[in-house]
Amino acid sequence: MSCDVKVKDRTGVINPIFTCQPAGAQFASIGIKDCIGIVHGGQGCVMFVRLLISQHFKESFEIVSSSVHEEGAVFGALDRVEQAVDVLLMRYPHVKVVPIITTCSTEVIGDDVDGVVTKLEEELLQVKYPDREVHLIPIHTPSFVGSMVTGYDLAVWDFVKAFAKKDEPNGKINLITGWVNPGDVKELKHLLAEMQIDATVLFEIESFDSPLLPDGSAVSHGNTTIEDLTGTANALETIALNRYEGGKAAQFLEKQFSVPAMIGPTPIGIRNTDTFLHNLTKITGKPIPQSLVRERGVAIDALTDLTHMFLAEKRVAIYGNPDLVIGLAEFCLDLEMKPVLLLLGDDNAGYVDDPRIKALQANVDYGMEIVTNADLWELERRIKDEGLELDLILGHSKGRFVAIEYNIPMLRVGFPTYDRAGLWRYPVVGYAGATWLAEQMANTLFTDMEHKKNKEWILNVW
Ligand code: SF4
Repeated sequence: MSCDVKVKDRTGVINPIFTCQPAGAQFASIGIKDCIGIVHGGQGCVMFVRLLISQHFKESFEIVSSSVHEEGAVFGALDRVEQAVDVLLMRYPHVKVVPIITTCSTEVIGDDVDGVVTKLEEELLQVKYPDREVHLIPIHTPSFVGSMVTGYDLAVWDFVKAFAKKDEPNGKINLITGWVNPGDVKELKHLLAEMQIDATVLFEIESFDSPLLPDGSAVSHGNTTIEDLTGTANALETIALNRYEGGKAAQFLEKQFSVPAMIGPTPIGIRNTDTFLHNLTKITGKPIPQSLVRERGVAIDALTDLTHMFLAEKRVAIYGNPDLVIGLAEFCLDLEMKPVLLLLGDDNAGYVDDPRIKALQANVDYGMEIVTNADLWELERRIKDEGLELDLILGHSKGRFVAIEYNIPMLRVGFPTYDRAGLWRYPVVGYAGATWLAEQMANTLFTDMEHKKNKEWILNVW
């Protein structure tokens, strides 16, 4: 038995797992305070992405389209960027950071976005907004390369490149969370607070779980400030929790400013959370406090109640963002489950060299398949045509139809999850995340046992 890594052996994509690069850049930009991005392309490049993000968080936020039309698609559309910047700055006097995010069409046209940024800085900003702090940041995210995951990674790198500035050491840790939920940010901040560690949590979207207040404000904004980004060059170390969602920026800070980079682990499950905390201790010298030892114990107790009796041997398929998929697979293995199929939705050739994937290949003693450049048809085809037997599916809401069609229990996890309430509020990282994930997996299986009358008696005697 073995763990094979293979590329989908079919051209074309049926029901994609990911959307395109500009979506990732838009997600990164909503984590910055006083920032509204301009997506340079057709309106759909904003409309659909904004809809996805809003459906997921059930919140409203602002993002702008340069709204390229036929004429611009033929003759170039830089005039639309110039107008968009001007209108945005007039309409939103608080905005300081304006990423200009390219798309497939404007990259194919060959619009010189870097050139127009220079022009705007020398003309519009000098003449019309001379006393205003405005940063225009070109972000190149053609959609025919990579995916929303690489778009996020690129945008984080571009923002850090634009702002990081060497100064006195600030004694802080840079923490790049990657593509996570407000519940994850809250849990990460909790772990840092318990360890009394001063960290800059970057591109952080905790406030996307936002209240409705008496003043009627209902628009969500990220919390990372320009000062936070500037200070990244002066930190003790950068921890990028997700290799593919922030790793590039961490490496840049190491190379450019000698701020050491620690890539991963994605702190999903007990083992990876332990490593994360030990890494924090190594960097700062701060010990892991008893409060976290106790939290760990509570989590292990919860997992012990479920593992042997309910979760062991359950066959799981997992799809979504690569760091999430790998972290979930590692956690499932620790719970004695059998992740049999991992689907990674883009063609990153580096996946085969990922040490975590190599570790899976070296240690798995049953048949596991890892498919890159995968789509949801790869999941459906295996169930329908190859008789793949699954006890559970872990993935975002776009795969719900496979679970429904083939009557397989599914736990929604990842982005986007719009067909279950409030999932953004719960962490998958840290000890709290480990408990939540294990209990949700178990509850999903319990519901299925009741529904199918499958060993339902176990639930009555437990
Ligand atoms: S694939 Fe191209 S046209 Fe479609 S949303 Fe992405 S960037 Fe826009």
